[in-house]
Amino acid sequence: MLTHEITERWLNYFQKQGHSVVPSASLVSTQPGSMFTIAGMVPFIPYFLGQEQAPWPRATSVQKCIRTLDIDEVGKTARHGTFFQMAGNFSFGDYFKEKAIPMAWELLTSSVEDGGYGLDPERLWVTIYEGDEEAFELWHNTVGLPEERIQRMGKDENYWDTGQPGPAGPDSEIFYDRGPRYGKDGGPAVDDDRYIEIWNLVFMQYQRGEGSGKDYEILGELPRKNIDTGLGVERMAMLLQGVENFYETDQVRPVLDAAARLSGRTYHGAEHPQDTGYDDDVRMRVVADHIRSSLMLIADGVTPGNEGRGYILRRLLRRAIRAMRLLGVTEPCLKVLLPTSRDAMGEMFPVVVDDFERISRIAYAEEKAFLKTIESGTSRLDEAVAVAKSEGGAVTGADAFALHDTYGFPIDLTLEMAAEAGVAVDETAFRSLMKEQRDRARADAQAKKGAHADLSVLRALQEQRDSVFTGYTEVSSATTI
Ligand code: ATP
Ligand code: MG
Ligand code: MG
Ligand code: MG
Repeated sequence: MLTHEITERWLNYFQKQGHSVVPSASLVSTQPGSMFTIAGMVPFIPYFLGQEQAPWPRATSVQKCIRTLDIDEVGKTARHGTFFQMAGNFSFGDYFKEKAIPMAWELLTSSVEDGGYGLDPERLWVTIYEGDEEAFELWHNTVGLPEERIQRMGKDENYWDTGQPGPAGPDSEIFYDRGPRYGKDGGPAVDDDRYIEIWNLVFMQYQRGEGSGKDYEILGELPRKNIDTGLGVERMAMLLQGVENFYETDQVRPVLDAAARLSGRTYHGAEHPQDTGYDDDVRMRVVADHIRSSLMLIADGVTPGNEGRGYILRRLLRRAIRAMRLLGVTEPCLKVLLPTSRDAMGEMFPVVVDDFERISRIAYAEEKAFLKTIESGTSRLDEAVAVAKSEGGAVTGADAFALHDTYGFPIDLTLEMAAEAGVAVDETAFRSLMKEQRDRARADAQAKKGAHADLSVLRALQEQRDSVFTGYTEVSSATTI
């Protein structure tokens, strides 16, 4: 079953169950404090928080999502993408657990002819919050799931809240057992690669008070209880298409194949399903994922830059280009990879076809600039690495600073390339040099106030540079591709 059929089936099912179909919101989140839409519920937050009245009692959507938090997992686990689609059904004070659980079960296990996904019920496991007897009753007695396949977990795993006083409640997650070839027995509590999480059902049931982490008081039941669920569309596709992972599904795989073709290297895939040692496989998956995420981000109006969303996009494109270099391709390659992703995504997202001229212009320009940066700094970095190796130490802060200052090498690139060469970087020394430079510039600016020099340009440049590093620490601590 192709990805777009999975989403159509989803919307059809929930529409039949009285849900209004709501189109996906942009990847660019309008919610305060978040850059991107990270889950299907994000556009509905004002309804869940009771700030606005939902226009429908029940809704369903397939939401485009970006999760940069998962960037280090990409290519290494079977299931994490930076861009993915989350299918959801939502109740705003309408139905609760007693309907959400049986509906989820029905859609997953009823036959394809009957409009379901036809999953083998014997392979499904669920987790519930340990104190949620209602959920246990529903899974066990109403649905008929044997007790052994219902695992009780603590607050850290199966309890949802927003991090502040407001709605909170238990959740229940559904997993698919891929079989002994993929790992140990014992359910999702034991192995999250064999037992793939496909669907999370959140039961917004209580009003929580002040507290930190999961340590807060439950003040009482919410007057209007809500349901928020999210199913990973690509994870479903991976199961229904009988492939090994997220990156081999129909909307992602073509770019992986193009990366293999361009590099003349082999993708091993199923031959090494568990392997993290096959670096080329990981790199091809990273390329496939990041190119798609970049395409979708630019389509939603993001452009590469040094801070915020633009920096995330820049980082995704650069990581894809770096992965191609590690596969031995030093020529520009987006001219092949980007149209391949467009063709794979175009049926569901016609905007990537209609707007491709603009999207590709932005991506190609970024590639050109980055390749130039790499070219100019690589031999300087090689020297620094050689010195570090001969002295048994790390690349010095001074070298990392020179690379940044003279060659425009971002620190994350230095960290990644040094790590590949097997040496560390003295990041602390680098950061203190950065700070010294900043302080100096500030002092100069102060001293020259009123003089002829136009310092606003210098200051603007300085601010731009500083923000790169804020962006980096906020994004991820990834040091390798
Ligand atoms: P995992 O534990 O596998 O990282 P999660 O618990 O972080 O998943 P949720 O926040 O519960 O995921 O999101 C709801 C659903 O969205 C998940 O059950 C999964 O199917 C899907 N999903 C979450 N993160 C990703 C991702 N990075 N790539 C693809 N699908 C995802
Ligand atoms: Mg996760
Ligand atoms: Mg999880
Ligand atoms: Mg989850």
